[in-house]
Amino acid sequence: MCRHAAWLGAPRSLTSLIHEPEYGLLRQSYAPRLQRHGALNADGFGVGWYDANGTEPVRYRRAIPIWTDANLPGLARIARSGCLLAAIRSATVGMPIEETATAPFTDGPWLLSHNGRVAREAVRGLADSAESPCDSAWLAAAVFARRRAGHPLGDALAEVVIHAGTEDPKARLNLLACDGTSIAATVWGDTLFLHLDDGVLVASEPLDDRPGWQAVPERTLVLASPDGVRIQPL
Ligand code: GLN
Repeated sequence: MCRHAAWLGAPRSLTSLIHEPEYGLLRQSYAPRLQRHGALNADGFGVGWYDANGTEPVRYRRAIPIWTDANLPGLARIARSGCLLAAIRSATVGMPIEETATAPFTDGPWLLSHNGRVAREAVRGLADSAESPCDSAWLAAAVFARRRAGHPLGDALAEVVIHAGTEDPKARLNLLACDGTSIAATVWGDTLFLHLDDGVLVASEPLDDRPGWQAVPERTLVLASPDGVRIQPL
């Protein structure tokens, strides 16, 4: 399983997800604490954030371990936004290790990451094509097809997860997506945690040992917006 994290609230830099917290994504790349599948997240990483001058995010992703990118700490310090997403990857056996297989995937204003695995046959019918044969790229393409059909972020995630999870009962489908003003995430087979302060942090596992991290129940959809956080069953 990969690990992912997102922030919605007062503007912060990407370092707040990766480098600053004791158990941020940098540490989780080589020593995750709650990872159920895989021990290392060294097959790539990606980040996305929203610049004040545009609605489409800036996305930076690489197919190398996050700790080997010497340019990232500087970039992450100046990449500040009220909506951030970052992910580290542990490729599922048989999946290609390449940039196009690395989250976050993006389409228009949406960014999306996937923790888990799914049989490709369970998602192939949901999209015409994907940028990589990786299962996560197909899930992203399926969600983005629903974006283009006008579905809201949460509905698009829920439909794809329920369809894929029904077709492949062994699938693990924790998706995390944002659009610059809201976050949507699913819990289906792996952990997800929330932390509220001057905004909301959503992460596969807590980024630090502060009190207040809450585990999100299995088979739910989390919706976070400036109006608050809602959790509903899937
Ligand atoms: N199956 C996806 C991939 O290969 C996600 C892997 C994961 O969550 N570890 O990239």
